[in-house]
Amino acid sequence: MSVNTEAYQSIMGELTAHDATLVAVSKLKPPEAIEALYALGHRDFGENYVQELVDKQSKLPAEIRWHFIGHLQRNKVKYLAPFVYLIHGVDSEKLLQEIDRQAVKVGRVIDVLLQVHIATEESKFGFDAGELAALLETPEKIEGLAGIRLRGLMGMASFSEDSSLVRQEFQTLRGLFVRYKTAFPHFDLLSMGMSGDYGIALSEGSNMVRIGSLLFGRRS
Ligand SMILES: *Cc1c(COP(=O)(O)O)cnc(C)c1O
Repeated sequence: MSVNTEAYQSIMGELTAHDATLVAVSKLKPPEAIEALYALGHRDFGENYVQELVDKQSKLPAEIRWHFIGHLQRNKVKYLAPFVYLIHGVDSEKLLQEIDRQAVKVGRVIDVLLQVHIATEESKFGFDAGELAALLETPEKIEGLAGIRLRGLMGMASFSEDSSLVRQEFQTLRGLFVRYKTAFPHFDLLSMGMSGDYGIALSEGSNMVRIGSLLFGRRS
């Protein structure tokens, strides 16, 4: 079975109670896995790799809302600009400017989330609180970009068994979300929570979770 439909139904039940959206993370899974969930009415899918996403998008129904959740290189934005629904991992002002440029070129306004580094691990991408402040406390920097709509923040907690650490990191992100929400008219999405920690994320105010392995099984 390519999709765990029981897990899907149970996650959807929890999310409905929190008014949260499920992004089904289908990276490294075949188009058939996506089709199986699509057949149940699901429309939001997340991918991490540009080439893989472009291939899948060309084969699968146009109604799918494609979320790009990986690390995006500036020279690849142009491949996503014509169709991407939401870019979660924007981690520099230069990337934001490139998304704006490519969006304007194709006559779109692209929804984006800024990625914030909340985990203890060094390797994760994202703005730290100071860099985020430098960008968001100068709203003109964002308002001048006609091709992007800033929808909120995204973050990944530490891969840790220590749930109080994970909780603390989600609280930090939620605090930043609340702080900047009032300054931007479309700021309404807080993308946090994955297979291992989405319950904590929901209880800390997430309204968008990104779940892969619980739905599609482990990735090889
Ligand atoms: C792969 C990935 C996920 C999904 O991870 P699971 O643990 O399989 O649920 C969520 N968010 C990001 C950014 C990812 O890269």
